[in-house]
Amino acid sequence: MRTATERRELLKAVYEEARDCRRCPLYQTRTTVVFGSGNADAELMFVGEAPGANEDRQGLPFVGQAGKLLDKLLGEIGITRQDVFIANTIKCRPPDNRDPHPNEIEACNEYLRRQIELIEPSVICTLGNFSTKLLRADGTGITRLHGREETRVIGTRAVHLYPLYHPAAALYTPSTLEALRADFHRIPQLLALGAPPQPEPAIAIPQPTELIPEPEDQIAGPEEPPAVTVPEPAAQLGLF
Ligand code: URA
Repeated sequence: MRTATERRELLKAVYEEARDCRRCPLYQTRTTVVFGSGNADAELMFVGEAPGANEDRQGLPFVGQAGKLLDKLLGEIGITRQDVFIANTIKCRPPDNRDPHPNEIEACNEYLRRQIELIEPSVICTLGNFSTKLLRADGTGITRLHGREETRVIGTRAVHLYPLYHPAAALYTPSTLEALRADFHRIPQLLALGAPPQPEPAIAIPQPTELIPEPEDQIAGPEEPPAVTVPEPAAQLGLF
């Protein structure tokens, strides 16, 4: 079991790795890696699609019109950004706001998986089709799934997964906004459930060769761990 402080430090280390990421071609056109921001120990996490132009400029998720709507809906249920962690399926802006490509989602997936593992949320709200399909590992679309919570194991973490319409889709379609609002108003009930039972941690079985000490190990004794300095992340991470 890691403490909240340990998990927060590990999350900063993932951010430090991601901020110079070149795992997919989007690094050539992005301004900033939008890692995600919020409470590193949040019970509630949102996963959107990809940064847009404003997010790419500011380095923070959901700072444009869709973000304003997200803040408004959070306010209606008595929650602020400081209570939640907001991330995206991919961390770099696709040029001209095109849809993320499968290779980009695949290349970025490890960052999201590690974010979930370290933040340990109880509830994950996927916003729109991309994060819903990725985290459910299934092609079913958001129109069928929105507002239907289910327990899912994502990486090492069991969560209440709660697909929602993307706020951008609700900006200009009143019926989508009403559905999103109704679904949002059920979030406090899901949070009240607490985290679902967690899977047993995988036990690493030592391989036979690891059990036999190398001759020099016997002489030198255990090695000192290398000194690690984790640089302070820029304000971009916006950790609370
Ligand atoms: N839309 C998203 O999916 N993510 C953002 O960060 C902004 C808009």
